Amino acid sequence: MKYISTRGAAPVLSFEEAMLTGLARDGGLYLPQSIPHMSFAEIAALDGQSYEEVAFRVMRPFIGDAFTDDEFREIIARAYAGFGHVARAPLKQLDSAHFLLELFHGPTLAFKDFAMQLIGQMFEASLKRSGRRVCIVGATSGDTGSAAIEAFRGLDAVDVFILYPHGRVSEVQRRQMTTPTESNVHALAIDGHFDDAQARVKDMFNDFEFRDAVGLAGVNSINWARVLAQVVYYFTSAVSLGAPHRAVSFTVPTGNFGDVFAGYVARRMGLPIDRLVVATNQNDILHRCLSGGAYVPDGVIPSISPSMDIQVSSNFERALFYAYGEDGAAVAQLMDELKAGGFHVSQGALEALREAFASGRCDEEETRATILQTWAGTGELLCPHSAVGVKVAEEMRRPDVPMVTLATAHPAKFPAAVEEASGVHPPLPERMSDLYERSERVTRVANDLAAIETLIKERTAH
Ligand SMILES: *Cc1c(COP(=O)(O)O)cnc(C)c1O
Repeated sequence: MKYISTRGAAPVLSFEEAMLTGLARDGGLYLPQSIPHMSFAEIAALDGQSYEEVAFRVMRPFIGDAFTDDEFREIIARAYAGFGHVARAPLKQLDSAHFLLELFHGPTLAFKDFAMQLIGQMFEASLKRSGRRVCIVGATSGDTGSAAIEAFRGLDAVDVFILYPHGRVSEVQRRQMTTPTESNVHALAIDGHFDDAQARVKDMFNDFEFRDAVGLAGVNSINWARVLAQVVYYFTSAVSLGAPHRAVSFTVPTGNFGDVFAGYVARRMGLPIDRLVVATNQNDILHRCLSGGAYVPDGVIPSISPSMDIQVSSNFERALFYAYGEDGAAVAQLMDELKAGGFHVSQGALEALREAFASGRCDEEETRATILQTWAGTGELLCPHSAVGVKVAEEMRRPDVPMVTLATAHPAKFPAAVEEASGVHPPLPERMSDLYERSERVTRVANDLAAIETLIKERTAH
């Protein structure tokens, strides 16, 4: 299995190379040269299998010879062993045909654990074999950083540095980053906003001397291995609801488009997905683009579902690649236009996008009302991101087709917003109820590239 760039001008790589590289050298995102297909019988045979077994069968065709079957099974087993639910991604029924896919039973209580835990184990296996070390540097507004730290803590071949904006993440998110005790984990609180943190990380990747000296690697949501890990739970949930014998729809609370794109891949592999719905909060650039074709960022308005507060949705580029008939040059052109302010999708490409994705938006008041109504009607406490999904799903569901809404985070990760909407304080799960007592370890850094690079060099001089 070979991987190509969405902009068509980067070297073709193996799965392992694409995973360790992240972003392609032409600025594009890696995709498999062709998407493997699972037959009706192969999908039917997933029924009754464990999450881990489905993960193995769904992902195996994508990884080529990166790992032997035994190695890959072991990687998967280790990745999901720390989840707080044996089903890993259990389904809850909201009403006769609306289901919630709970993706928040991982160690940091958000769906990003599914991909990050797997990628941590794959990095470790691959680096051990080659004797290399890497230094993972990432910027976070909350969920990605804690998921990365949880996934890489204590691994031998990896140091992990996470920059988060000082004073601008929730207390649960901060504590998840600052309380791990392993010496390869480094939480850095930068004086500035998320955009500053992200800009300094980009600067480090563009500083080739530094990049090579410390062996910089990225695990942000454009990494193909992360998308792949997320394909699995579309299969487990759809098969539980009767696929491939009947079609199932999904609604996905969306920011960077990684999670919903994984659903698109599942459909192209042969899973009968009827509607695949992109749900946005008030930062609705994706809904506007899918409605009218214009992709023109304006400012982000902070919301109570902060992990979906985006202007530039990086994985959308992958959907554009297919909508433009796999024309890398056309995608590169759009991305150039985006740098200059925005782009308009061609008529043909818009039709292709709208065939693949439906969309809807949910404002702040509707989000709060959905949290309250769902609590009152079902006893299920939704996080604000999941509430955006549930609201849009209710508008977009069709009779006779079960709708699955992805619940992307645990309500206890956003206690203030949930309590304000419902009057109920969401407790942390038992297994992490001591989070508020653990001691914190964090380094405050100035918004200054040279100072951050010096600190990272010192800490990685083994
Ligand atoms: C990251 C995140 C999202 C958005 O997912 P994308 O793959 O970026 O679209 C939604 N909800 C929560 C809780 C998240 O952490």
